Amino acid sequence: MQSSSPPRKSMLKDIAIELASDDSDLVYYSWMLKYPSALKSFHHIITRAHKKKIVIFLDYDGTLSPIVDDPERAFMSIDMHSAVKDVAKYFPTAIISGRSRDKVFELVGLTELFYAGSHGMDIIFPAKDTISVNRLNYIRSTDKQGKEVNLFQPAREFIPMINEVFRTLVEVTKDIPGAFVENHKFCTSVHYRNVDEKSWRMIAQRVHDVLKDYPRLTLTHGRKVLEVRPLIDWDKGKAVEFLLESLGLSNANDVLPIYIGDDRTDEDAFKVLREGNRGYGILVSSVPKESKAFLSLRDTSEVKEFLKSLVRWKEQMSNVDG
Ligand SMILES: [Mg+2]
Repeated sequence: MQSSSPPRKSMLKDIAIELASDDSDLVYYSWMLKYPSALKSFHHIITRAHKKKIVIFLDYDGTLSPIVDDPERAFMSIDMHSAVKDVAKYFPTAIISGRSRDKVFELVGLTELFYAGSHGMDIIFPAKDTISVNRLNYIRSTDKQGKEVNLFQPAREFIPMINEVFRTLVEVTKDIPGAFVENHKFCTSVHYRNVDEKSWRMIAQRVHDVLKDYPRLTLTHGRKVLEVRPLIDWDKGKAVEFLLESLGLSNANDVLPIYIGDDRTDEDAFKVLREGNRGYGILVSSVPKESKAFLSLRDTSEVKEFLKSLVRWKEQMSNVDG
């Protein structure tokens, strides 16, 4: 029998080595010391959530749906769909995606959620849930079911410009096999996932050249995608703040926002939460990377487990209370 326990640091290292089947796993497990698993930290999260209202923000691609070659076919699993539906029963839940709001709604198909499309530049929520209605750019409207809604579209004036640049991008990439240009209404993106690697530079150059004529648009780089966006002071982080405020949930003492995302654009939201010391940013990644998130999940199936854990916890709580 050993009487003394090894020092904590070396023990963690030993565990990491034990768990690692090869070097890349070892690197991942040591990265997780900095960004612990949200599943393993679950107890910690719910302890902090005591007497607070949890609000859930979810990115779509790569977070709820796996990244696939054809963005038109990025569907959630049936299991994930029910996990999101269940989570929305207990917590205000918003989807914040780079896709157009219509497209992301079509893919998710749950009316009980809030949606922010085009990296947060196109937000819709039921009028009845809105606290502050005096914002510039608010538009009263009705949704497809005829319910009264509020729209918030800070880049509305850019729609004609985006349409124009979309058509030009389609034109300049049409001879590149596998290139796919998508119009998200307030932004547009050029996917090169299916383009031969030899043409990646060429496609980037052409997009870049088109953008020279549009000083009010900016180009960002996502996962095998070039994204053209209006140059405005608005991002997923601003969208999170805006949604919290509009829904009357901006009091940091009563509210615990949780944001789950996998993309570079999600970093703006992680940053807002980190700097405001509010809630948790959770990065979805199977490879180590620098992030402003606090926690991590490895892939979409871990996201699903995490959402299910939240639901189970809430159900247990209401059983205890009731
Ligand atoms: Mg994503």
